[in-house]
Amino acid sequence: MFCVYDLHSHSTASDGTLSPAELVCRAAVAGVRVLALTDHDTTSGLEEASAAALDCGLMLIPGVEVSVTWNGQTVHILGLNVDRDNPALQQGLSGLRSFRDWRAKEIAKRLEKAGISDAYEGALARSNGTLVSRTHFARYLVEQGVVSDERKVFKHYLVKGKPGFVPGQWAKLDQALEWIHGAGGVAVVAHPARYRMTRTKLRRLFAEFAELNGEAIEVVSGSHNRDDYFTMAKHAGDFGLLASAGSDFHSPENPWIELGRLPMLPDNCTPLWSNWVIDSDRSASRKAV
Ligand code: AMP
Ligand code: MN
Ligand code: MN
Ligand code: MN
Repeated sequence: MFCVYDLHSHSTASDGTLSPAELVCRAAVAGVRVLALTDHDTTSGLEEASAAALDCGLMLIPGVEVSVTWNGQTVHILGLNVDRDNPALQQGLSGLRSFRDWRAKEIAKRLEKAGISDAYEGALARSNGTLVSRTHFARYLVEQGVVSDERKVFKHYLVKGKPGFVPGQWAKLDQALEWIHGAGGVAVVAHPARYRMTRTKLRRLFAEFAELNGEAIEVVSGSHNRDDYFTMAKHAGDFGLLASAGSDFHSPENPWIELGRLPMLPDNCTPLWSNWVIDSDRSASRKAV
């Protein structure tokens, strides 16, 4: 049995390769009933995704994955069920996108020194023109034949200590939670097992997050292994946090996990969605049209 909730995914509005409508329909066909679109630092894909969700018969949760710098390290906080018209949220996200623009040019300058030319233009051309991610640089370098796959681009060019690395200057944790809560949403620590943190530091993150009234952590994630599920379930319990599940799907060519294949949460977790009212009638009635 697979989990019918998938509360973390990406479209061409950020670094995914499917349009919001294509993503939603692929998820519906794969058996996902409730999908959150959580593009990096933007909500621009939500309108198209919501319309597609009505046609495909799944429930779309409006979301965003906010880039945060916490103790000198980048962490990702999902905002789910946010009101995308909220001015403070939009202003905050707009500031993060301005940093992205500056960073993209800076990454390209540094790659130029490492002998890779036109990387800004290459990354921009692979994006939707409004948000450039390191993933777009990775795709450019792979297509140029510099390295064989995206993972290797990150490893050899885009992470700390490598030629194209530019440190993040993202939102502060408390700001991100303010934006999310102010927009009526709930906050979730994305893929916590992926951060290269000691157990002590990770628990400090959870403690601060809980103190700021954050709601949940991703226990099941496309980038977690089975051991991680149980470790994160234990942390969630220890800090009184709810558990979430999300594939972090980016593309059919390179899925960390395919849509519709997320395992169920461990039994000892309280799911984030346990008190959600699922509006399946609305989508079901539209489906019949
Ligand atoms: P950015 O937010 O622009 O710094 O880019 C972060 C994104 O890069 C993540 O959301 C992933 O989609 C992708 N990413 C990060 N690390 C890796 C990796 N090792 N291999 C492939 N993709 C990665
Ligand atoms: Mn991404
Ligand atoms: Mn992430
Ligand atoms: Mn993500």
